[in-house]
Amino acid sequence: MTDTGLMLRAFPDLFPDEDAARAWFERARWPDGPTCPVCGCVNHACWLRTIRRWQCTACHRQFSVTAGTPMHRTHLPMLTWAQAIYQIVASSKGISAVKLSEMLGVSYQTAWHLGHRIRAMMAEDSPLLSNLVEIDKTYAGAPPRKRAKPERMALLVRGGVGCTLPYRFLTGTA
Ligand SMILES: [Zn+2]
Repeated sequence: MTDTGLMLRAFPDLFPDEDAARAWFERARWPDGPTCPVCGCVNHACWLRTIRRWQCTACHRQFSVTAGTPMHRTHLPMLTWAQAIYQIVASSKGISAVKLSEMLGVSYQTAWHLGHRIRAMMAEDSPLLSNLVEIDKTYAGAPPRKRAKPERMALLVRGGVGCTLPYRFLTGTA
């Protein structure tokens, strides 16, 4: 699909820097504003720029957008996570950890963990990822009785750009 090229070209515009990537995750997870995972207070937090975390003004606990998600305690930039999700979504045949490590400039082990956690989020219908990516069981490209590749699932990225992802990738059986 030509959408893949479109997505990859659009990436630098969508995510020019780390703050843009973090804002992308935050908008998806907290549509009503930063939500304290401890007391549940919504949109009553201040951004601590030096340590790059939110602080709840009610209970004073510090938190980030990754708290309580498979990305919890990640040492990787949000930009790397966003790039990994985009590369995985954009790859029509799935993507190996070797390829992902080359594309992202990270170690094989880091790429393997990224892919593993992103697949886990997809499989669990993680609230974070489900707001970023919509997975639909409708088949793309061919009418239902002419499904040449029934293992493919349509995957749409919020923002109108879509591509297909092999079903085996989603189920982790590749
Ligand atoms: Zn709180």
